[in-house]
Amino acid sequence: MRTWLLMLAVALAACVAAPITPTTIVQPVLSPSTAVFDRFAQQRKEMVVSQIQSRDVTAPEVLDAMNTVPRHSFVPSDYLDQAYEDHPLPIGYGQTISQPYIVALMTEKLKVKRGDKVLEIGTGSGYQAAVLAHLGLEVYSVEIIPELARAADERLRQLGYAVSVKQGDGYLGWEEHAPYDAIIVTAAPDHVPQPLVKQLKDGGRLVIPVGPQGSWQTLWQFTRKGNDLQAVDLGGVAFVPLVRK
Ligand code: SAH
Repeated sequence: MRTWLLMLAVALAACVAAPITPTTIVQPVLSPSTAVFDRFAQQRKEMVVSQIQSRDVTAPEVLDAMNTVPRHSFVPSDYLDQAYEDHPLPIGYGQTISQPYIVALMTEKLKVKRGDKVLEIGTGSGYQAAVLAHLGLEVYSVEIIPELARAADERLRQLGYAVSVKQGDGYLGWEEHAPYDAIIVTAAPDHVPQPLVKQLKDGGRLVIPVGPQGSWQTLWQFTRKGNDLQAVDLGGVAFVPLVRK
């Protein structure tokens, strides 16, 4: 009986140690694509700690979004190495993807919660819109440059972010889906566009840089109170201008 058991054990061991057949696929411990992904994951983590948490952004869901959304997928390949650095980057057509900290700050100041409806003016690369979508918001975004609108729409779709992108003049908002819980403007007008105020819910937030073209602007958080706006100055910023057709 003991001999039989021993033979069975040897046979089983032989099965386990059987040579790999040609059809067996052996996964390398770290495939090249995993290595690239991991490199960016580490950079993203460092970006959140050193550029965002170290400043004044504390909302856990915003930090999580910044830690998750692959910013490198939204920058031109020439700038891949700088995707997680502490500054804006060119995205073509004279436009830029905002500095990570500014994206996080503006997102936090929208004071939104899962399921809220948000309008973004200035889709650009689509990165800010992806961060908003990651928060579980219903996101609408308007971009005036047709090529950027098309590219962002395709990129967001490929990455699986549910964002509705429209080409048009964002000064006029997106009436069809109004009213919004919050509106974020990522290009600077020299005054607050009234159509955007009208499309905001009572109590809704408008985060917007306002100031002269080619100069510093002030980033504002406005909260609509009936027909009034309650204003909070968030500091000086430099955005590309909001242009009209
Ligand atoms: N949020 C973007 C960065 C925006 S850069 C991102 O995450 O990448 C500002 C964008 O606003 C540019 O793409 C510019 O073309 C766009 N823009 C400027 N004026 C506009 C207008 N009137 N309506 C809509 N978009 C406008």
